[in-house]
Amino acid sequence: MPELPEVETVRSSLARDFVGKKIKTVAVTNGRAVRRHKAPKDFRAKVEGRTIKNVARLGKYLIFGFDDGTKMVGHLGMSGQLLKAKNAKDPKPKHTHVVFTFTQGPELRFVDPRTFGEFFVSEPLAEGVALEMSKFARLSVGGDGLALRAQVPELAHLGIDPLEDQIGWDRLAAIVRSRTTIMKGVITDQDIICGIGNIYADEILFDAGIRYDRSAETLSTIEIRRLHRAMTEVLADAIKHHGSTLDDEQFVDPDGNPGEYQNFHRVYNREGLPCTQCRAPIQRVTVRQRSTFFCAKCQN
Ligand SMILES: [Zn+2]
Repeated sequence: MPELPEVETVRSSLARDFVGKKIKTVAVTNGRAVRRHKAPKDFRAKVEGRTIKNVARLGKYLIFGFDDGTKMVGHLGMSGQLLKAKNAKDPKPKHTHVVFTFTQGPELRFVDPRTFGEFFVSEPLAEGVALEMSKFARLSVGGDGLALRAQVPELAHLGIDPLEDQIGWDRLAAIVRSRTTIMKGVITDQDIICGIGNIYADEILFDAGIRYDRSAETLSTIEIRRLHRAMTEVLADAIKHHGSTLDDEQFVDPDGNPGEYQNFHRVYNREGLPCTQCRAPIQRVTVRQRSTFFCAKCQN
């Protein structure tokens, strides 16, 4: 499933190639891809004719700012890809559910075999309805995250985005220590910290020297500081390498290029291979039906 670094890789590519482009037509061939709208034609009416002014990201969501001030939100779900097609005649991949064409330049296709992904145009709050901002996000001291949540009320519930929200280690400590669940659960809960999923949780916890099953309220100050640093460093490094593409998954950027960060993983998908720090074999356990990888020596 695409996580923050993969979504950020897609965002920067779209920002480069589609900002300033005017959407000519939108074809929706699977209504599930725009399921928040009453009908695909309602989605089309809100998108066709709009010019993309900017592309932002919050957690695993893409946010397209239109010239009329509205926002279109995209989520890749489990298996979604956004792919550029230079020529409209290029054969469409199976499971192409939405096609955006522009008054000039390549078209953009949303391909999603498992159909968990979606697009929608954000609805302003009804008059008198207060925005329900995440109590964790409200602890941020800077960055663009709060403004994005205010502009897209559907995303206001998202917890701290490790890159878009600035938060000191002391405030992160207050958040983490208020939880009594295991650490992997805390950092993958999108309503607490958004953008991190199965892969980067394992990489971040390894970098911080914290076991996946540590109870969050037991973390020491030193461990929280290491976690704080590991979140931003691991994610920034993964973005630099255009995200992770694994054998059984199919992440590619809009140009069709896979990521390269899988070559730099230190625990994820490395069961039995020597730890890069201590040479002990990396272990794999199943937590909530998903694989978790860790070093029993380096993580406490
Ligand atoms: Zn180790």
